[in-house]
Amino acid sequence: MDSITEVVVVGAGPTGLMLAGDLARAGVGCTVLERRSEETNLTRAFAVHARTLEMLDARGLADDLVATGTRVGALRLFGKLEVDLSQLPTRFPYVLVTPQYQTERVLEERASALGARIVRGAEVLDLHQDNDGVEVVARYKDGTLGTQRAAYAIGTDGVRSKVRQALALPFPGHSAIQSVMLADVRLGEAPEDVLTVNAVGDGFVFVAPFGDGWYRVIAWDRRRELPDDAPLELEEIREITQRVLGTDYGMHDPRWMSRFHSDERQIPHYRVGRVFLAGDAAHVHSPAGGQGMNTGLQDAANLGWKLAAAVHGWAPDGLLDSYHAERYPVGRAVVRGSGALLRLTLAQSPATRAVRWLLANFFGRFGSPPAIVSRAISGIGISYAAPRGEHRLVGRRAPDVRLTSGEVGQTRLYETLRGGRFVLLTPAGAGAAIGGRWAGRVDLATPADATLPMVLVRPDGYVAWATDETAPASRDAALRKALTRWYGQPASDNTGGSRAQLLQTNE
Ligand SMILES: Cc1cc2nc3c(=O)[nH]c(=O)nc-3n(C[C@H](O)[C@H](O)[C@H](O)COP(=O)(O)OP(=O)(O)OC[C@H]3O[C@@H](n4cnc5c(N)ncnc54)[C@H](O)[C@@H]3O)c2cc1C
Repeated sequence: MDSITEVVVVGAGPTGLMLAGDLARAGVGCTVLERRSEETNLTRAFAVHARTLEMLDARGLADDLVATGTRVGALRLFGKLEVDLSQLPTRFPYVLVTPQYQTERVLEERASALGARIVRGAEVLDLHQDNDGVEVVARYKDGTLGTQRAAYAIGTDGVRSKVRQALALPFPGHSAIQSVMLADVRLGEAPEDVLTVNAVGDGFVFVAPFGDGWYRVIAWDRRRELPDDAPLELEEIREITQRVLGTDYGMHDPRWMSRFHSDERQIPHYRVGRVFLAGDAAHVHSPAGGQGMNTGLQDAANLGWKLAAAVHGWAPDGLLDSYHAERYPVGRAVVRGSGALLRLTLAQSPATRAVRWLLANFFGRFGSPPAIVSRAISGIGISYAAPRGEHRLVGRRAPDVRLTSGEVGQTRLYETLRGGRFVLLTPAGAGAAIGGRWAGRVDLATPADATLPMVLVRPDGYVAWATDETAPASRDAALRKALTRWYGQPASDNTGGSRAQLLQTNE
Protein backbone atom coordinates (compact mmCIF):
# COMPACT_ATOMS: atom_id res chain seq x y z
CA MET A 1 0.00 0.00 0.00
CA ASP A 2 1.53 3.31 -1.03
CA SER A 3 -0.39 5.64 1.12
CA ILE A 4 -3.22 5.73 3.70
CA THR A 5 -5.60 8.53 4.54
CA GLU A 6 -9.13 8.81 5.93
CA VAL A 7 -10.88 10.19 2.86
CA VAL A 8 -9.70 10.35 -0.77
CA VAL A 9 -11.32 12.99 -2.94
CA VAL A 10 -10.91 12.42 -6.69
CA GLY A 11 -10.86 15.72 -8.61
CA ALA A 12 -9.94 19.25 -7.49
CA GLY A 13 -12.76 21.14 -9.17
CA PRO A 14 -14.99 23.34 -7.04
CA THR A 15 -16.91 20.37 -5.55
CA GLY A 16 -13.78 18.45 -4.52
CA LEU A 17 -12.07 21.53 -3.10
CA MET A 18 -15.10 22.43 -0.98
CA LEU A 19 -15.24 18.88 0.38
CA ALA A 20 -11.51 18.83 1.08
CA GLY A 21 -11.80 22.06 3.07
CA ASP A 22 -14.80 20.86 5.08
CA LEU A 23 -13.19 17.52 5.88
CA ALA A 24 -9.91 19.14 6.87
CA ARG A 25 -11.76 21.67 9.03
CA ALA A 26 -13.38 18.75 10.85
CA GLY A 27 -9.95 17.23 11.50
CA VAL A 28 -10.33 14.44 8.93
CA GLY A 29 -7.22 13.35 7.03
CA CYS A 30 -7.97 14.06 3.40
CA THR A 31 -6.06 13.65 0.14
CA VAL A 32 -7.27 15.15 -3.14
CA LEU A 33 -6.01 13.49 -6.34
CA GLU A 34 -6.21 15.81 -9.35
CA ARG A 35 -5.34 14.79 -12.91
CA ARG A 36 -4.27 18.27 -14.06
CA SER A 37 -0.72 19.22 -13.21
CA GLU A 38 -1.38 22.94 -13.18
CA GLU A 39 -4.24 25.10 -12.05
CA THR A 40 -6.23 26.52 -14.94
CA ASN A 41 -7.51 30.00 -15.56
CA LEU A 42 -10.03 28.79 -18.10
CA THR A 43 -13.49 29.06 -16.76
CA ARG A 44 -16.92 27.52 -17.30
CA ALA A 45 -19.10 28.79 -14.47
CA PHE A 46 -19.41 32.50 -13.80
CA ALA A 47 -22.68 32.73 -11.85
CA VAL A 48 -22.52 32.20 -8.10
CA HIS A 49 -25.97 32.25 -6.57
CA ALA A 50 -27.13 33.55 -3.18
CA ARG A 51 -27.35 30.21 -1.34
CA THR A 52 -23.84 29.29 -2.44
CA LEU A 53 -22.58 32.68 -1.25
CA GLU A 54 -24.26 32.02 2.10
CA MET A 55 -22.45 28.69 2.31
CA LEU A 56 -19.17 30.39 1.46
CA ASP A 57 -19.98 32.99 4.14
CA ALA A 58 -20.37 30.14 6.63
CA ARG A 59 -16.75 29.30 5.73
CA GLY A 60 -15.44 32.87 5.86
CA LEU A 61 -14.91 33.01 2.09
CA ALA A 62 -17.80 35.05 0.70
CA ASP A 63 -16.41 38.55 1.14
CA ASP A 64 -13.17 37.61 -0.64
CA LEU A 65 -15.09 36.12 -3.57
CA VAL A 66 -17.65 38.93 -3.80
CA ALA A 67 -14.77 41.41 -4.13
CA THR A 68 -13.66 39.67 -7.35
CA GLY A 69 -16.96 39.96 -9.22
CA THR A 70 -19.96 41.98 -10.30
CA ARG A 71 -23.33 41.84 -8.50
CA VAL A 72 -26.42 41.45 -10.65
CA GLY A 73 -29.71 42.13 -8.89
CA ALA A 74 -32.08 40.81 -11.57
CA LEU A 75 -32.01 38.13 -14.26
CA ARG A 76 -33.80 38.46 -17.57
CA LEU A 77 -35.46 35.38 -19.01
CA PHE A 78 -36.79 35.09 -22.57
CA GLY A 79 -35.63 38.64 -23.39
CA LYS A 80 -38.16 40.50 -21.26
CA LEU A 81 -39.16 38.55 -18.15
CA GLU A 82 -37.23 39.99 -15.23
CA VAL A 83 -36.54 37.86 -12.14
CA ASP A 84 -35.87 40.25 -9.27
CA LEU A 85 -33.28 38.92 -6.82
CA SER A 86 -32.99 42.11 -4.77
CA GLN A 87 -35.79 41.13 -2.37
CA LEU A 88 -34.33 37.75 -1.43
CA PRO A 89 -34.03 37.38 2.36
CA THR A 90 -30.24 37.07 2.40
CA ARG A 91 -27.05 39.10 2.82
CA PHE A 92 -26.46 38.36 -0.87
CA PRO A 93 -29.59 39.48 -2.79
CA TYR A 94 -27.98 39.08 -6.20
CA VAL A 95 -26.10 36.68 -8.44
CA LEU A 96 -22.35 37.21 -8.38
CA VAL A 97 -20.67 37.12 -11.79
CA THR A 98 -17.09 35.95 -11.28
CA PRO A 99 -14.91 33.41 -13.09
CA GLN A 100 -14.93 29.83 -11.82
CA TYR A 101 -11.17 29.98 -11.17
CA GLN A 102 -11.78 32.64 -8.50
CA THR A 103 -14.23 30.32 -6.70
CA GLU A 104 -11.70 27.49 -7.00
CA ARG A 105 -8.93 29.78 -5.73
CA VAL A 106 -10.69 30.71 -2.47
CA LEU A 107 -11.69 27.08 -1.89
CA GLU A 108 -8.21 25.72 -2.59
CA GLU A 109 -6.50 28.30 -0.37
CA ARG A 110 -8.83 27.34 2.46
CA ALA A 111 -8.46 23.58 1.97
CA SER A 112 -4.65 23.82 1.89
CA ALA A 113 -4.53 26.14 4.91
CA LEU A 114 -6.66 23.66 6.88
CA GLY A 115 -4.31 20.79 6.03
CA ALA A 116 -5.91 18.95 3.09
CA ARG A 117 -3.27 17.34 0.86
CA ILE A 118 -3.83 18.27 -2.78
CA VAL A 119 -1.82 16.14 -5.21
CA ARG A 120 -1.75 17.46 -8.77
CA GLY A 121 -0.71 15.34 -11.73
CA ALA A 122 -2.44 12.28 -10.21
CA GLU A 123 -4.90 10.67 -12.60
CA VAL A 124 -7.20 8.13 -10.97
CA LEU A 125 -7.47 5.00 -13.10
CA ASP A 126 -9.47 2.62 -10.97
CA LEU A 127 -11.07 2.06 -7.59
CA HIS A 128 -12.01 -1.00 -5.49
CA GLN A 129 -13.78 -1.26 -2.18
CA ASP A 130 -14.16 -3.93 0.48
CA ASN A 131 -15.90 -4.00 3.85
CA ASP A 132 -13.17 -1.99 5.51
CA GLY A 133 -12.16 0.63 3.01
CA VAL A 134 -11.46 1.81 -0.51
CA GLU A 135 -8.37 1.54 -2.70
CA VAL A 136 -7.84 4.17 -5.36
CA VAL A 137 -5.28 3.52 -8.11
CA ALA A 138 -3.65 6.57 -9.67
CA ARG A 139 -0.98 7.30 -12.26
CA TYR A 140 1.32 10.16 -11.27
CA LYS A 141 2.90 12.65 -13.63
CA ASP A 142 6.26 10.85 -13.58
CA GLY A 143 4.44 7.77 -14.94
CA THR A 144 4.48 5.74 -11.72
CA LEU A 145 1.36 4.01 -10.41
CA GLY A 146 0.31 4.27 -6.78
CA THR A 147 -2.52 3.05 -4.56
CA GLN A 148 -4.18 5.20 -1.96
CA ARG A 149 -6.20 3.41 0.73
CA ALA A 150 -8.87 5.24 2.69
CA ALA A 151 -11.96 4.66 4.79
CA TYR A 152 -14.07 6.51 2.21
CA ALA A 153 -13.70 7.95 -1.29
CA ILE A 154 -15.60 10.70 -3.08
CA GLY A 155 -15.77 11.05 -6.86
CA THR A 156 -15.82 14.75 -7.71
CA ASP A 157 -14.11 14.10 -11.02
CA GLY A 158 -16.61 15.77 -13.30
CA VAL A 159 -18.89 14.66 -16.07
CA ARG A 160 -16.62 11.86 -17.39
CA SER A 161 -16.04 10.54 -13.87
CA LYS A 162 -13.69 7.58 -13.65
CA VAL A 163 -15.05 6.86 -10.15
CA ARG A 164 -18.55 6.54 -11.57
CA GLN A 165 -17.24 4.19 -14.25
CA ALA A 166 -15.33 2.10 -11.71
CA LEU A 167 -18.57 1.64 -9.76
CA ALA A 168 -20.32 0.67 -13.03
CA LEU A 169 -23.01 3.21 -12.23
CA PRO A 170 -25.28 4.15 -15.13
CA PHE A 171 -25.61 7.82 -16.05
CA PRO A 172 -29.01 7.85 -17.71
CA GLY A 173 -30.30 10.82 -19.64
CA HIS A 174 -30.00 12.42 -23.04
CA SER A 175 -28.34 15.17 -24.99
CA ALA A 176 -29.80 18.63 -24.27
CA ILE A 177 -28.08 20.85 -26.80
CA GLN A 178 -25.36 20.47 -29.49
CA SER A 179 -22.68 22.82 -30.74
CA VAL A 180 -22.82 25.63 -28.21
CA MET A 181 -20.03 28.13 -28.90
CA LEU A 182 -18.00 29.67 -26.09
CA ALA A 183 -15.55 32.54 -26.45
CA ASP A 184 -13.69 34.81 -24.04
CA VAL A 185 -13.25 38.12 -25.86
CA ARG A 186 -12.59 41.83 -25.50
CA LEU A 187 -15.39 44.19 -26.50
CA GLY A 188 -15.06 47.58 -28.21
CA GLU A 189 -18.13 48.88 -26.35
CA ALA A 190 -19.59 47.57 -23.09
CA PRO A 191 -23.18 46.27 -23.18
CA GLU A 192 -25.75 48.35 -21.32
CA ASP A 193 -26.77 45.58 -18.91
CA VAL A 194 -24.36 43.50 -16.85
CA LEU A 195 -25.83 40.30 -18.30
CA THR A 196 -27.05 40.50 -21.89
CA VAL A 197 -29.16 37.68 -23.24
CA ASN A 198 -31.54 37.17 -26.11
CA ALA A 199 -32.99 34.39 -28.23
CA VAL A 200 -34.49 34.70 -31.70
CA GLY A 201 -36.06 31.93 -33.76
CA ASP A 202 -32.81 30.21 -34.69
CA GLY A 203 -30.18 31.53 -32.33
CA PHE A 204 -29.25 32.42 -28.78
CA VAL A 205 -26.52 34.69 -27.35
CA PHE A 206 -25.47 35.43 -23.81
CA VAL A 207 -22.76 37.96 -22.85
CA ALA A 208 -21.36 38.31 -19.31
CA PRO A 209 -18.39 40.30 -17.97
CA PHE A 210 -15.60 38.69 -15.95
CA GLY A 211 -14.94 42.10 -14.39
CA ASP A 212 -11.35 42.32 -15.62
CA GLY A 213 -12.05 43.58 -19.15
CA TRP A 214 -12.79 40.09 -20.55
CA TYR A 215 -16.25 38.97 -21.56
CA ARG A 216 -17.70 35.47 -21.89
CA VAL A 217 -19.92 34.95 -24.94
CA ILE A 218 -22.11 31.84 -25.16
CA ALA A 219 -23.80 31.47 -28.54
CA TRP A 220 -25.86 28.88 -30.36
CA ASP A 221 -26.92 28.89 -34.01
CA ARG A 222 -29.61 26.44 -35.04
CA ARG A 223 -28.37 26.73 -38.63
CA ARG A 224 -24.87 25.46 -37.75
CA GLU A 225 -24.99 22.51 -35.35
CA LEU A 226 -21.46 21.18 -35.81
CA PRO A 227 -19.50 18.55 -33.84
CA ASP A 228 -17.54 19.70 -30.77
CA ASP A 229 -14.22 19.35 -32.60
CA ALA A 230 -15.21 21.44 -35.66
CA PRO A 231 -12.95 24.52 -35.94
CA LEU A 232 -14.43 27.71 -34.55
CA GLU A 233 -13.67 31.21 -35.85
CA LEU A 234 -14.51 34.47 -34.12
CA GLU A 235 -16.38 35.50 -37.26
CA GLU A 236 -18.96 32.79 -36.64
CA ILE A 237 -19.64 34.12 -33.13
CA ARG A 238 -19.73 37.74 -34.33
CA GLU A 239 -22.26 36.87 -37.00
CA ILE A 240 -24.72 35.12 -34.65
CA THR A 241 -24.26 37.88 -32.03
CA GLN A 242 -25.16 40.56 -34.57
CA ARG A 243 -28.17 38.56 -35.69
CA VAL A 244 -29.46 37.97 -32.15
CA LEU A 245 -28.43 41.14 -30.28
CA GLY A 246 -28.25 43.60 -33.20
CA THR A 247 -24.57 44.33 -32.52
CA ASP A 248 -21.37 42.36 -31.86
CA TYR A 249 -20.11 45.10 -29.48
CA GLY A 250 -16.90 45.23 -31.53
CA MET A 251 -15.69 41.89 -30.15
CA HIS A 252 -12.01 41.10 -30.79
CA ASP A 253 -8.91 39.32 -29.52
CA PRO A 254 -10.43 36.05 -28.29
CA ARG A 255 -8.16 34.36 -25.72
CA TRP A 256 -10.11 31.09 -25.91
CA MET A 257 -12.86 29.60 -28.06
CA SER A 258 -14.54 26.23 -27.93
CA ARG A 259 -17.61 24.28 -28.93
CA PHE A 260 -19.37 21.98 -26.52
CA HIS A 261 -22.53 19.95 -26.19
CA SER A 262 -24.56 19.56 -23.06
CA ASP A 263 -26.34 16.49 -21.68
CA GLU A 264 -29.02 16.08 -19.04
CA ARG A 265 -28.06 13.11 -16.87
CA GLN A 266 -28.15 11.96 -13.26
CA ILE A 267 -26.87 8.85 -11.52
CA PRO A 268 -29.46 6.75 -9.65
CA HIS A 269 -27.44 6.40 -6.42
CA TYR A 270 -25.16 9.03 -4.88
CA ARG A 271 -23.68 6.45 -2.53
CA VAL A 272 -22.31 2.99 -3.26
CA GLY A 273 -20.94 1.50 -0.02
CA ARG A 274 -17.96 3.61 0.98
CA VAL A 275 -17.87 5.66 -2.19
CA PHE A 276 -19.89 8.83 -2.85
CA LEU A 277 -20.37 10.92 -5.97
CA ALA A 278 -20.92 14.67 -6.00
CA GLY A 279 -21.04 17.56 -8.46
CA ASP A 280 -20.91 16.97 -12.20
CA ALA A 281 -19.92 13.34 -11.58
CA ALA A 282 -23.46 12.82 -10.22
CA HIS A 283 -25.56 15.18 -12.32
CA VAL A 284 -25.10 17.22 -15.44
CA HIS A 285 -27.42 19.54 -17.31
CA SER A 286 -27.42 22.57 -19.56
CA PRO A 287 -25.74 25.75 -18.32
CA ALA A 288 -29.11 27.57 -18.48
CA GLY A 289 -29.70 29.19 -15.08
CA GLY A 290 -26.04 28.74 -14.05
CA GLN A 291 -26.72 25.90 -11.62
CA GLY A 292 -24.03 23.22 -12.08
CA MET A 293 -21.21 24.50 -9.90
CA ASN A 294 -23.68 25.87 -7.36
CA THR A 295 -25.34 22.47 -7.04
CA GLY A 296 -21.98 20.70 -6.74
CA LEU A 297 -20.87 23.05 -3.95
CA GLN A 298 -24.10 22.40 -2.10
CA ASP A 299 -23.65 18.63 -2.52
CA ALA A 300 -20.24 19.08 -0.91
CA ALA A 301 -21.65 21.13 1.98
CA ASN A 302 -24.24 18.39 2.61
CA LEU A 303 -21.78 15.49 2.49
CA GLY A 304 -18.66 16.87 4.23
CA TRP A 305 -19.94 17.04 7.81
CA LYS A 306 -21.75 13.70 7.52
CA LEU A 307 -18.61 11.94 6.37
CA ALA A 308 -16.61 13.65 9.11
CA ALA A 309 -19.18 12.40 11.66
CA ALA A 310 -18.76 8.85 10.31
CA VAL A 311 -14.95 9.06 10.46
CA HIS A 312 -15.14 10.40 14.02
CA GLY A 313 -17.46 7.55 14.95
CA TRP A 314 -20.57 9.46 16.05
CA ALA A 315 -22.70 9.43 12.89
CA PRO A 316 -26.23 8.34 13.83
CA ASP A 317 -27.77 5.49 11.85
CA GLY A 318 -28.70 6.51 8.34
CA LEU A 319 -26.74 9.78 8.34
CA LEU A 320 -24.55 8.80 5.37
CA ASP A 321 -27.57 7.54 3.43
CA SER A 322 -29.29 10.87 4.01
CA TYR A 323 -26.79 12.41 1.57
CA HIS A 324 -28.49 10.63 -1.36
CA ALA A 325 -31.96 11.08 0.14
CA GLU A 326 -31.47 14.84 0.40
CA ARG A 327 -29.35 15.69 -2.61
CA TYR A 328 -30.77 13.39 -5.30
CA PRO A 329 -34.13 15.25 -5.40
CA VAL A 330 -32.32 18.61 -5.55
CA GLY A 331 -30.19 17.36 -8.47
CA ARG A 332 -33.27 16.02 -10.24
CA ALA A 333 -35.05 19.38 -9.85
CA VAL A 334 -32.02 21.21 -11.26
CA VAL A 335 -31.76 18.86 -14.27
CA ARG A 336 -35.47 19.32 -14.99
CA GLY A 337 -35.55 23.06 -14.30
CA SER A 338 -32.51 23.97 -16.39
CA GLY A 339 -33.81 21.71 -19.19
CA ALA A 340 -37.20 23.44 -19.17
CA LEU A 341 -35.52 26.86 -19.20
CA LEU A 342 -33.31 25.84 -22.10
CA ARG A 343 -36.19 24.44 -24.14
CA LEU A 344 -38.37 27.48 -23.52
CA THR A 345 -35.52 29.83 -24.41
CA LEU A 346 -34.69 28.03 -27.66
CA ALA A 347 -38.29 27.17 -28.44
CA GLN A 348 -39.07 26.74 -32.11
CA SER A 349 -42.32 24.79 -32.12
CA PRO A 350 -45.39 27.01 -32.11
CA ALA A 351 -46.69 25.36 -28.93
CA THR A 352 -43.53 25.94 -26.89
CA ARG A 353 -43.16 29.46 -28.20
CA ALA A 354 -46.73 30.14 -27.18
CA VAL A 355 -45.93 28.97 -23.62
CA ARG A 356 -42.91 31.27 -23.56
CA TRP A 357 -44.98 34.19 -24.86
CA LEU A 358 -47.68 33.52 -22.29
CA LEU A 359 -45.20 33.33 -19.40
CA ALA A 360 -43.38 36.49 -20.45
CA ASN A 361 -46.56 38.46 -21.02
CA PHE A 362 -48.42 37.18 -17.99
CA PHE A 363 -45.66 38.12 -15.58
CA GLY A 364 -44.68 41.19 -17.61
CA ARG A 365 -48.22 42.49 -17.11
CA PHE A 366 -48.81 41.43 -13.53
CA GLY A 367 -45.36 42.16 -12.13
CA SER A 368 -42.32 39.94 -11.52
CA PRO A 369 -42.53 36.16 -11.47
CA PRO A 370 -43.47 34.98 -7.99
CA ALA A 371 -40.78 34.81 -5.33
CA ILE A 372 -40.69 31.04 -5.76
CA VAL A 373 -38.78 31.54 -9.04
CA SER A 374 -36.06 33.73 -7.54
CA ARG A 375 -35.85 31.41 -4.53
CA ALA A 376 -35.42 28.40 -6.81
CA ILE A 377 -32.77 30.00 -9.04
CA SER A 378 -30.83 31.41 -6.09
CA GLY A 379 -31.00 28.17 -4.09
CA ILE A 380 -32.50 30.06 -1.12
CA GLY A 381 -35.67 27.98 -1.45
CA ILE A 382 -33.94 24.57 -1.20
CA SER A 383 -35.06 22.50 1.77
CA TYR A 384 -34.88 18.83 2.71
CA ALA A 385 -37.76 16.52 3.54
CA ALA A 386 -38.28 16.11 7.28
CA PRO A 387 -39.53 12.94 8.97
CA ARG A 388 -43.26 12.96 9.72
CA GLY A 389 -44.14 14.71 12.99
CA GLU A 390 -41.03 16.91 13.10
CA HIS A 391 -41.22 20.65 13.74
CA ARG A 392 -42.15 22.68 10.65
CA LEU A 393 -38.65 24.23 10.48
CA VAL A 394 -36.78 20.90 10.27
CA GLY A 395 -35.02 20.52 6.92
CA ARG A 396 -35.40 24.22 6.10
CA ARG A 397 -32.52 26.61 5.48
CA ALA A 398 -31.60 28.48 8.67
CA PRO A 399 -31.47 32.19 7.89
CA ASP A 400 -28.48 34.22 9.02
CA VAL A 401 -30.10 35.41 12.25
CA ARG A 402 -28.58 38.20 14.33
CA LEU A 403 -27.04 37.08 17.61
CA THR A 404 -26.60 38.70 20.97
CA SER A 405 -23.91 36.26 21.90
CA GLY A 406 -21.79 33.55 20.42
CA GLU A 407 -18.08 33.15 20.18
CA VAL A 408 -16.27 36.45 20.73
CA GLY A 409 -17.06 38.95 17.99
CA GLN A 410 -19.72 36.84 16.26
CA THR A 411 -22.89 38.72 15.54
CA ARG A 412 -24.52 36.41 12.95
CA LEU A 413 -25.37 32.72 12.78
CA TYR A 414 -23.26 32.16 9.67
CA GLU A 415 -20.18 33.43 11.51
CA THR A 416 -20.80 30.87 14.25
CA LEU A 417 -21.23 28.14 11.61
CA ARG A 418 -17.62 28.76 10.53
CA GLY A 419 -16.60 26.36 13.30
CA GLY A 420 -18.10 23.53 11.23
CA ARG A 421 -20.17 22.30 14.17
CA PHE A 422 -23.89 22.27 14.97
CA VAL A 423 -25.18 25.52 16.45
CA LEU A 424 -27.86 25.54 19.14
CA LEU A 425 -29.82 28.78 18.95
CA THR A 426 -31.13 29.14 22.47
CA PRO A 427 -33.34 32.14 23.20
CA ALA A 428 -32.00 33.91 26.29
CA GLY A 429 -29.54 31.10 26.85
CA ALA A 430 -32.20 28.51 27.72
CA GLY A 431 -30.92 24.95 27.61
CA ALA A 432 -27.31 26.14 27.50
CA ALA A 433 -26.26 23.84 30.32
CA ILE A 434 -27.58 20.83 28.41
CA GLY A 435 -26.06 21.91 25.09
CA GLY A 436 -22.77 22.50 26.89
CA ARG A 437 -22.53 18.79 27.77
CA TRP A 438 -21.98 18.11 24.07
CA ALA A 439 -19.29 20.81 23.85
CA GLY A 440 -17.01 20.26 20.87
CA ARG A 441 -19.93 19.21 18.69
CA VAL A 442 -22.38 22.02 19.40
CA ASP A 443 -21.74 25.76 19.62
CA LEU A 444 -24.25 27.83 21.54
CA ALA A 445 -25.61 31.17 20.40
CA THR A 446 -28.44 33.46 21.48
CA PRO A 447 -30.53 35.13 18.77
CA ALA A 448 -31.21 38.85 19.15
CA ASP A 449 -34.89 38.10 18.49
CA ALA A 450 -36.05 36.52 21.75
CA THR A 451 -39.27 35.27 20.15
CA LEU A 452 -37.49 32.69 17.95
CA PRO A 453 -37.97 29.06 18.92
CA MET A 454 -35.07 26.96 20.13
CA VAL A 455 -33.36 25.61 17.01
CA LEU A 456 -30.51 23.17 16.41
CA VAL A 457 -28.76 24.08 13.14
CA ARG A 458 -26.70 21.51 11.21
CA PRO A 459 -23.17 22.40 10.08
CA ASP A 460 -24.49 22.90 6.53
CA GLY A 461 -26.97 25.55 7.69
CA TYR A 462 -30.21 23.51 7.65
CA VAL A 463 -32.41 22.96 10.68
CA ALA A 464 -31.85 19.63 12.45
CA TRP A 465 -34.38 20.07 15.24
CA ALA A 466 -36.58 22.80 16.72
CA THR A 467 -39.18 23.21 19.42
CA ASP A 468 -41.82 25.78 20.31
CA GLU A 469 -41.98 24.34 23.82
CA THR A 470 -41.33 27.03 26.44
CA ALA A 471 -41.92 25.11 29.67
CA PRO A 472 -38.31 24.51 30.83
CA ALA A 473 -38.69 20.85 31.91
CA SER A 474 -40.36 19.62 28.70
CA ARG A 475 -38.17 21.77 26.47
CA ASP A 476 -34.96 20.57 28.15
CA ALA A 477 -36.09 16.95 27.92
CA ALA A 478 -36.83 17.38 24.20
CA LEU A 479 -33.45 19.05 23.67
CA ARG A 480 -31.60 16.28 25.50
CA LYS A 481 -33.38 13.72 23.35
CA ALA A 482 -32.54 15.57 20.14
CA LEU A 483 -28.86 15.92 21.04
CA THR A 484 -28.64 12.26 22.04
CA ARG A 485 -30.26 11.27 18.73
CA TRP A 486 -27.66 13.25 16.77
CA TYR A 487 -24.55 12.50 18.87
CA GLY A 488 -25.21 9.67 21.28
CA GLN A 489 -24.57 10.25 25.00
CA PRO A 490 -22.57 13.38 25.93
CA ALA A 491 -18.79 12.97 25.99
CA SER A 492 -18.82 13.65 29.76
CA ASP A 493 -20.80 10.41 30.23
CA ASN A 494 -17.89 8.69 28.52
CA THR A 495 -20.13 6.85 26.11
CA GLY A 496 -19.89 9.29 23.21
CA GLY A 497 -18.64 8.26 19.81
CA SER A 498 -14.97 7.68 19.30
CA ARG A 499 -12.99 8.09 16.15
CA ALA A 500 -13.58 5.25 13.77
CA GLN A 501 -10.69 2.89 13.42
CA LEU A 502 -9.36 3.71 10.00
CA LEU A 503 -10.48 1.17 7.46
CA GLN A 504 -12.95 -0.50 9.80
CA THR A 505 -16.66 -0.48 9.23
CA ASN A 506 -18.39 2.17 11.28
CA GLU A 507 -21.85 2.24 9.70
C1 LIG B 1 -20.44 27.00 -20.66
C2 LIG B 1 -20.70 26.62 -19.25
C3 LIG B 1 -21.13 27.58 -18.37
C4 LIG B 1 -21.41 27.24 -17.07
N1 LIG B 1 -21.83 28.20 -16.22
C5 LIG B 1 -22.13 27.89 -14.96
C6 LIG B 1 -22.53 28.91 -14.03
O1 LIG B 1 -22.60 30.09 -14.39
N2 LIG B 1 -22.81 28.55 -12.77
C7 LIG B 1 -22.72 27.24 -12.37
O2 LIG B 1 -23.02 26.96 -11.20
N3 LIG B 1 -22.29 26.27 -13.20
C8 LIG B 1 -21.99 26.56 -14.47
N4 LIG B 1 -21.53 25.59 -15.31
C9 LIG B 1 -21.29 24.23 -14.79
C10 LIG B 1 -20.00 24.15 -13.94
O3 LIG B 1 -18.90 24.58 -14.67
C11 LIG B 1 -19.80 22.72 -13.46
O4 LIG B 1 -21.02 22.26 -12.92
C12 LIG B 1 -18.71 22.64 -12.38
O5 LIG B 1 -17.44 22.89 -12.91
C13 LIG B 1 -18.71 21.24 -11.74
O6 LIG B 1 -17.74 21.19 -10.76
P1 LIG B 1 -17.13 19.79 -10.29
O7 LIG B 1 -16.10 20.12 -9.27
O8 LIG B 1 -18.22 18.88 -9.93
O9 LIG B 1 -16.46 19.18 -11.60
P2 LIG B 1 -15.31 19.77 -12.52
O10 LIG B 1 -15.27 21.26 -12.43
O11 LIG B 1 -15.47 19.17 -13.84
O12 LIG B 1 -13.98 19.27 -11.84
C14 LIG B 1 -13.59 17.91 -11.94
C15 LIG B 1 -12.11 17.81 -11.65
O13 LIG B 1 -11.74 16.44 -11.64
C16 LIG B 1 -10.54 16.27 -12.36
N5 LIG B 1 -10.51 14.89 -12.87
C17 LIG B 1 -11.27 14.36 -13.86
N6 LIG B 1 -10.98 13.04 -14.03
C18 LIG B 1 -10.01 12.75 -13.12
C19 LIG B 1 -9.31 11.56 -12.80
N7 LIG B 1 -9.53 10.40 -13.46
N8 LIG B 1 -8.39 11.60 -11.81
C20 LIG B 1 -8.15 12.75 -11.13
N9 LIG B 1 -8.79 13.92 -11.40
C21 LIG B 1 -9.72 13.91 -12.38
C22 LIG B 1 -10.62 17.32 -13.47
O14 LIG B 1 -9.34 17.64 -13.98
C23 LIG B 1 -11.27 18.49 -12.72
O15 LIG B 1 -10.31 19.32 -12.10
C24 LIG B 1 -21.25 25.91 -16.63
C25 LIG B 1 -20.80 24.92 -17.53
C26 LIG B 1 -20.53 25.28 -18.82
C27 LIG B 1 -20.07 24.22 -19.76
